[in-house]
Amino acid sequence: MSGEDRPFCGHVPTTCAVCGADRYYVMYTIRGKHHRLFRCDGDEQVVKCKRCGLVYLNPIPDPDALLHVWSDHPVTESDISSTLADAALGDVANIRRFKTSGTLLEIGCGYGALLGEAQRAGFDVCGWEVNPRKCEYIKRTHGVENVFWEPPWERGLPDRTFDVIAMLDVIEHIREIHEILREIRRLLKDDGILYLNTPNLDGIRSRIKRRRWPYFIALSHIYFFTCETLDKLLRTEGMTVRKRLIRPSRSFARNLVKSALRTVNIFDELCVVAAKA
Ligand SMILES: [Zn+2]
Repeated sequence: MSGEDRPFCGHVPTTCAVCGADRYYVMYTIRGKHHRLFRCDGDEQVVKCKRCGLVYLNPIPDPDALLHVWSDHPVTESDISSTLADAALGDVANIRRFKTSGTLLEIGCGYGALLGEAQRAGFDVCGWEVNPRKCEYIKRTHGVENVFWEPPWERGLPDRTFDVIAMLDVIEHIREIHEILREIRRLLKDDGILYLNTPNLDGIRSRIKRRRWPYFIALSHIYFFTCETLDKLLRTEGMTVRKRLIRPSRSFARNLVKSALRTVNIFDELCVVAAKA
């Protein structure tokens, strides 16, 4: 999809997703922002909440128009790489450090690499993906039957259904962030875990690149978390971080010697294991 083929999204103003405040200062203005899947007019601002420190986009691409873009996007072979499979192997290994079996829901399961890998590892898996074409792809390719495109709260899933809920590279896209976290908390068993990752605004690459950090420029991210602001967000919905796994992003990892720097907060990806507080 390129140029004028991409659908158009307008902008709408927003407030801080963590604390609800609307007072902020502008960190960067991103001119002529290029979104891969859609077009937007005008510049975009990366702002920082004066009350809680969350960094977010304001205004944001219209969420209703964006939902249409996500759910209508064709399945393209070029989006499906061996990197996804490698990452899924690593994610399942991480999850198995905390839960070795049980029920697993992935929110925003994309092309289903994690679901397929988790199913092979013995988990009873279930996925939510807003794009019906991807749901069909997952069923066909990974043999995962329980994949649905309507929101979990419309399916009447009972309380405390899941041992594990995974949400990878998703939280930074969703404006209804509190609603999603509330649903996650409702669906998790009392000893269940939330396995979540998002770009790491504390990482060294964001500090070096500043306004040119790829996660500001090329993608439809609306929130940019640090360890501190992600902790604050989870706490507002009765969740607490049990373990932090900061690591290189999938593309960054290929170019770095990983092990020497693993304990320092420099990497591009913030991954946490959270549980009910
Ligand atoms: Zn705030």
